[in-house]
Amino acid sequence: MLSIKNLQASVEEKQILKGLDLDVKPGEVHAIMGPNGAGKSTMGYVMSGREGYEVNEGSVTLDGVELLEMEAEERAREGLFLAFQYPVEIPGVSNLEFLKAAVDAQREARGEEAVSSKDFLKMAREACKQVHLPAEFLKRGVNEGFSGGEKKRNEIMQMLLLKPKLCILDESDSGLDIDALQVVAEGVNSQRSPDRSFIVVTHYQRLLDYIKPDFVHVLSDGKIVKSGDASLALELEEQGYTWLTEQREQSA
Ligand code: ADP
Ligand code: MG
Ligand code: MG
Repeated sequence: MLSIKNLQASVEEKQILKGLDLDVKPGEVHAIMGPNGAGKSTMGYVMSGREGYEVNEGSVTLDGVELLEMEAEERAREGLFLAFQYPVEIPGVSNLEFLKAAVDAQREARGEEAVSSKDFLKMAREACKQVHLPAEFLKRGVNEGFSGGEKKRNEIMQMLLLKPKLCILDESDSGLDIDALQVVAEGVNSQRSPDRSFIVVTHYQRLLDYIKPDFVHVLSDGKIVKSGDASLALELEEQGYTWLTEQREQSA
């Protein structure tokens, strides 16, 4: 379903991704771990089509469709969701309007009928409940004055409403409290299905206590250097990353 092949990308002329390969099949959850500055967030940004990230080589296809040639909005319509895609504050636009516009655009792209305002409000209220946000958050400006945990819940709510094919969650820089962490995990677990996949970027094994990944990959210096099952995360928690980078230097 998702296939990343030999992805090489740079920021400000500096090469960050150095030949990244990753295959994600429908229904799978992949965790990406790795040292600071390895390129984990860059991977997500490049996939989402964020400005300032230049692709030098490689391809990223979702169900056989090349994403790298598309605008960011088109990628979202293809079913790609990045949890850090909308962390910006948009004062003056209510969360509800923002969410409805996103869902409308996606339904239109899929050739589905639009949802009435009344039905959407119902769906949105239900989603609020699921992430433990009071319904009044729908009336507030997008992310305006939201705390870190509230932003996270809001992102998960977006995910619940958009029902994307592939979700990428980048948890690395967020100082999530344990409650917010559980909301993220519950959101992911409730949305796990045979036709939806997840890439969860995380620094800590902690999140993986709640979200059981099918595969764990270590991204180091712009490449996947090791892949394994959930037990790899525990091994990393104990041993850190140096043993992996040292192994690589010896074999190089
Ligand atoms: P990770 O998420 O794995 O911690 P990042 O993908 O955020 O790593 O960053 C990878 C590397 O790219 C780092 O060395 C970082 O300093 C560099 N980098 C990211 N954004 C920029 C930028 N806008 N300009 C220059 N270097 C950048
Ligand atoms: Mg970082
Ligand atoms: Mg990061």
